[in-house]
Amino acid sequence: MSDIQSLLRQTSFQKEDVITLLSPQNTDDIETIRRHAERVLLRAIGKKVHYRGLVEFSNRCNLDCYYCGIRRSNGTLTRFSMSVDNIVDAAKWCAAKGYGSIVLQSGQRTGNDFIEHVVSAISRIKKETVSSSLPDGLGITLCVGEQSKETYMRFFNAGAHRYLLRIETTHPGLFSKIHPPTQTLEHRIECLNTLKEIGFMVGTGVMIGLPGQTIRMLADDILFFQQYNIDMIGMGPYLPHRQAPLQNLSEATWTTPAILQKALLMIAVCRILFKDINIAATTALQAIAPKGREEGLRYGANILMPQLTPTRFRKSYQLYENKPCLEESKGDCALCLKSRIESVDRQLAVNEWGDPHSFSH
Ligand code: SAH
Repeated sequence: MSDIQSLLRQTSFQKEDVITLLSPQNTDDIETIRRHAERVLLRAIGKKVHYRGLVEFSNRCNLDCYYCGIRRSNGTLTRFSMSVDNIVDAAKWCAAKGYGSIVLQSGQRTGNDFIEHVVSAISRIKKETVSSSLPDGLGITLCVGEQSKETYMRFFNAGAHRYLLRIETTHPGLFSKIHPPTQTLEHRIECLNTLKEIGFMVGTGVMIGLPGQTIRMLADDILFFQQYNIDMIGMGPYLPHRQAPLQNLSEATWTTPAILQKALLMIAVCRILFKDINIAATTALQAIAPKGREEGLRYGANILMPQLTPTRFRKSYQLYENKPCLEESKGDCALCLKSRIESVDRQLAVNEWGDPHSFSH
């Protein structure tokens, strides 16, 4: 039995074990880890893949993250904000297609107009997507950044039950290298705690392949997910953007194929450690490999996020360059993803929220 095989028989994993799993030395070991993750997935969740229809409803942002294409200082962008009617229309389409859940994502803003806009979109989606196949309407995930406790409560009371806030990296030095000094790791953690306290199903994640990032840092990220009892994970490769200064600050640590491999291993190790939680195969995986999202599913992911953002806005919501699917319609994205799911012997689940058994409402 190889070292990796005997390591995978363990029921608990220390930091050094996670580091070993993230740095396999040959393709046999990589395949052993992948197959183990796939087995854990099939046992804990089965073949089902759930959709979260993604509506990137506004690229206006108050923040200036050094990696992000929609950062405040990017003056080359046409800024947009979808009306509540448009957001609700996208949600109704998503419900009619049987997606079960929607994600509302935007740049981070804290003004009252913005909060009201989001609250009214949530309340209307909740009312207007109820049907005999979806008696509680669409499940709603929000991804609108760091907000006050009061704002999070308003979102929750309006009917959103999941919240995605990536920690980006848990390494304090790296976090401060990729964000302006006004943003802190401590505040992100505080927000994640507040979201949990309120009762949200909480998702987080990191970017993989940030300049200066190491395997030890990624192992710490996984241990952070464990310590904070994270319910969902969305991770993907860091991809440079011409209008974001991080690309000029330093050299990447890994080559693109190595970053893809690390991102897939991160998914596999999270699946092995956390069993039945929701893990997304993110669009960013497909930006560096045509079959990146299918690979994500093969390494243990069970969630896909089809694009619902109207095609006319997609070019203005590029967090990174070479974002796939810029010209496609939401109908194209639905069909294309379904065949991707089937190509790896998995099944699209319809009209279900797809929350893990471990999460109690
Ligand atoms: N304002 C929201 C949404 C941010 S965009 C929030 O703060 O949560 C969603 C995620 O995209 C970010 O959390 C980040 O991890 C990822 N992202 C941003 N720029 C990226 C880039 N250049 N490469 C890869 N991922 C990026």
